[in-house]
Amino acid sequence: MTGFATRSIRTSKEVSEVPDASEDVLRVEDLSTQFFTAEGQVNAVHGIDVRLERGEVFGIVGESGSGKSVTARSIMDLIEPPGEITDGEIWYRNEEFAEAVVEDRPEAVDGTAVELRSVAASTREALRGRSFSMIFQDPESSFNPSLTVGEQVAEAVEVQRRASARPRSGRARTRRPEYSFGSYAISMALPSSEYVTGESRERAIELLELVGIPDPAERADEYPHEYSGGMLQRAMIAQALAGEPDVLVADEPTTALDVTIQAQILDLLEDLQRETGMTVLLITHNLGVIARMCDRVGVMYAGEIVERGTLEDVFDRPVHPYTKGLLDSIPAVEDSGGRLQPIPGNVPSLLDHEMGDRCYFADRCPKAMEECLNHPPEFDVAGSDDHATKCYLAEVEYTESRALSKDYFADEAGSETWERSVADTEEEPHRAGPGTGREAESAPSRDGSGPPGGESE
Ligand code: SF4
Repeated sequence: MTGFATRSIRTSKEVSEVPDASEDVLRVEDLSTQFFTAEGQVNAVHGIDVRLERGEVFGIVGESGSGKSVTARSIMDLIEPPGEITDGEIWYRNEEFAEAVVEDRPEAVDGTAVELRSVAASTREALRGRSFSMIFQDPESSFNPSLTVGEQVAEAVEVQRRASARPRSGRARTRRPEYSFGSYAISMALPSSEYVTGESRERAIELLELVGIPDPAERADEYPHEYSGGMLQRAMIAQALAGEPDVLVADEPTTALDVTIQAQILDLLEDLQRETGMTVLLITHNLGVIARMCDRVGVMYAGEIVERGTLEDVFDRPVHPYTKGLLDSIPAVEDSGGRLQPIPGNVPSLLDHEMGDRCYFADRCPKAMEECLNHPPEFDVAGSDDHATKCYLAEVEYTESRALSKDYFADEAGSETWERSVADTEEEPHRAGPGTGREAESAPSRDGSGPPGGESE
């Protein structure tokens, strides 16, 4: 088992501001999640590494079907059969939690970090809400229509209040079987007003006020159908904040909302993150949202993170042709008449027997070379301490003599490489506007949703 205390420190941010890796609140190593279906084994996520620094916003971006949401759900331990996390480690750094776990599972603890896949399921479940919280893209399906919004936020507060009153170890839970997320779910179906204290109700109203619900005391007594989509998304954020989590996982938090409300929700998340200092893992298909919100970013394709780095690394100095394709698919602010360049083809099948051993992007790549017939490892990109990519172009210069013929993958269904010449891909830095790339926020794509394949997963 590899604890992250033994890992090297790589980012320039860490070197200048953080003396060791102790500020990593979460480190995911070589994580794989598969679904075992009648058609075969689906490799939804395979071998990904993600590191979240305390207090940062890390974004994962990619097309629909790239594995973003499965990654988020894997971290939250929300994968259900036929899915299963089949490999990897998830290290969570929390001193109190490590102290609670070390007695029962010393092998799961490394300093102040705990490997979550090595602790009991009940212990992991107890972390939800208190350490990790998640907001989903569809608030309407996340609320019980038969309970008021205030009751449901208060229930979340009550769960966390009771959970905080007891130790976190699995042994303690066995000795004192109290309120769990299982019973929380039951109580949602079978409302029990006696369960929630007045204190939790007051806190729920405070939280509704915090997320910008007007007249929160009155609105707390309304039912979900009486809320607009944006208001309900705010209420879901209030619910997620009930346990004051270390890490907030936001899975396409604005996808179901219209553009104006999207901006308001992003403003809210930005303010809350700044005020609370919580760490945010933001899952989105929209590069504009990434540019606006994130400190670092990972680009996902076919279940892998194919490029990662700081915002500047990925937006200004992208190496992987898929990253370049995503960036080309949003318009530049200063060039409103320019032609957008879509990425031809489709995300490949993730069925194990159809994936093959080559680079999964090869059939769509304008620079596919002979090397690319072997699956690329991750390469560090020169010039930045935190920039890496799974593409041979980080190491090998593309030349015509290395190139695969244009029809090399012609037999593969749906394959279609860029029609642009190779020279066309040697473009300027991929900024959506002047500056660091964050200006992309003000430049939504023509369909208003970001890069191609932009609908949510
Ligand atoms: S490894 Fe090869 S095929 Fe894959 S993205 Fe890089 S250049 Fe293209």
